[in-house]
Amino acid sequence: MSQTDTAEHAVVIAGGGPAGMMLAAELALAKVDVAVVERRPDHVLAGSRAGGIHSRTIEVLDQRGVADRFLAEGQVTQAATFGTTVMDMSDFPTRHPYSLGIFQNQIERIMAAWIAELPVRIYYGREVTGFAQDDTGVDVRLSDGEPLRARYLVGCDGGRSVIRKAAGIEFPGWDPTRSNLIAEVELTDEPPAGVRHDAAGVHGLHRLQNGKTFRVVTTEQQLGPGGEPTLHDLSEALIAVYGTDFGIHNPTWISRFTDMTRQAAAYRVGRVLLAGDAAHVHYPAGGQGLSLGVQDAVNLGWKLAQVVDGTTTESLLDTYHAERHPVAARALRYTMAQTALQGHDERIKAVVDVVSELASMDEPRKRLAGLISGLDIQYDLGEGHPLLGRRMPDLDLNTADGPLRVFDLLHDARPLLLDLGQPGDFDIAPWADRVRMVDATYQGEWELPVLGVVSAPAAVLIRPDGYVAWVGGGTHHGLPDALATWFGPPVAA
Ligand SMILES: Cc1cc2nc3c(=O)[nH]c(=O)nc-3n(C[C@H](O)[C@H](O)[C@H](O)COP(=O)(O)OP(=O)(O)OC[C@H]3O[C@@H](n4cnc5c(N)ncnc54)[C@H](O)[C@@H]3O)c2cc1C
Repeated sequence: MSQTDTAEHAVVIAGGGPAGMMLAAELALAKVDVAVVERRPDHVLAGSRAGGIHSRTIEVLDQRGVADRFLAEGQVTQAATFGTTVMDMSDFPTRHPYSLGIFQNQIERIMAAWIAELPVRIYYGREVTGFAQDDTGVDVRLSDGEPLRARYLVGCDGGRSVIRKAAGIEFPGWDPTRSNLIAEVELTDEPPAGVRHDAAGVHGLHRLQNGKTFRVVTTEQQLGPGGEPTLHDLSEALIAVYGTDFGIHNPTWISRFTDMTRQAAAYRVGRVLLAGDAAHVHYPAGGQGLSLGVQDAVNLGWKLAQVVDGTTTESLLDTYHAERHPVAARALRYTMAQTALQGHDERIKAVVDVVSELASMDEPRKRLAGLISGLDIQYDLGEGHPLLGRRMPDLDLNTADGPLRVFDLLHDARPLLLDLGQPGDFDIAPWADRVRMVDATYQGEWELPVLGVVSAPAAVLIRPDGYVAWVGGGTHHGLPDALATWFGPPVAA
């Protein structure tokens, strides 16, 4: 095939799971020619897998105007769980002071429907098998032998990422100590209600909505073999705990997961980047994985879009690793702590009691719930107002167009300068092609999760991912620098 027959896209994403689909949406909203290569024949996910998303993830979906689609199908719980300690978060200053119980196969169905509305090309039923990058782009190798070229390739291809391995990116961390089976099966006998907790770990069988299928999670007595788990493995694991396998049959999905905890040493090598499980894996305690991946995508999307369209230099991509690597590193450590808290001996129970006692106090509760929910994230953008590097709250604004929420103004994933002082305070003409300016007023307190009330700024510069890049105290001071740092050099009038 000649070079002209090679399909080309500005960005190719390997993997159309939650991280890959979110990134595709972000790039498409920024008008980037993006394609996803997904090895499944369609978006349907066998098995229910993850059980929900946290508050900040709901917020980032709300920033794009699609949170309602997820809320309509899930169950809210006004609590965050750390290990086995449940903490109330109904007083958190967000429109979504809860986590949302919704299975991953529902999440992926909703996301797939959303990106189908956007200009995203999806190559289903094909696998990325490798790549070669040069100065101008990446040749992406596909399982069907068809040539594909991109200016940038992003590996959203899960924990066993081919992209990460082919890029030679190290994946340091901790080997597994615990192995679980998760499955959807039918049962002949009725299982006991609730969760059983013993020396091996946590076990439970719950009837799914169809009334016929059970979701089974059980901890194996020893580390399972690395290969694909079988119905026999599940039967053995259940008998070891319950003395019976309840007559399991007709499995629609059996999977094994462990507490292996690893993180990519680099999120970018040249024109190749990683996001989601490709960049970090850990035990699902605390339900962080999917949320972390979606937020990686939201951090990366607008940066990659600006580099692709030449607005900013490639160095902007370094801020992706600088901002997201520490967030996942912290989540990994807290996940390991939560995994340890699921132990069953008396000493661990004593630690659990101490943690629960601390979490009943206001400050520790807010700290832990802030961490689990993702609402406490602060990217290191230097010294300044407490809002700097933190998520912009979804305030109710009064504007010339009537009442609006801040998140309404972020639907199109463009940067926003919100002028809350006198109209006409700022002249951003040299960036007006990229940055939208809105004059607004806001009556009310500025309360941030975990931190509490902070002083009201006169203006804020908000990145497309909803994080604050500059806080104004009534003057221009620092604004041109912040605009140039994040959104490229000024254009001559
Ligand atoms: C039992 C269990 C419970 C969990 N519970 C939670 C929870 O409650 N909350 C939570 O946040 N997280 C949870 N997780 C973790 C969550 O499932 C993952 O973190 C999440 O799926 C990661 O999304 P991702 O898009 O990065 O990767 P994945 O979901 O793994 O998606 C990767 C995609 O890439 C495709 N792919 C792989 N290789 C290739 C290739 N070479 N070429 C093309 N396509 C490829 C795959 O088919 C897949 O669609 C749980 C996980 C498990 C196992």
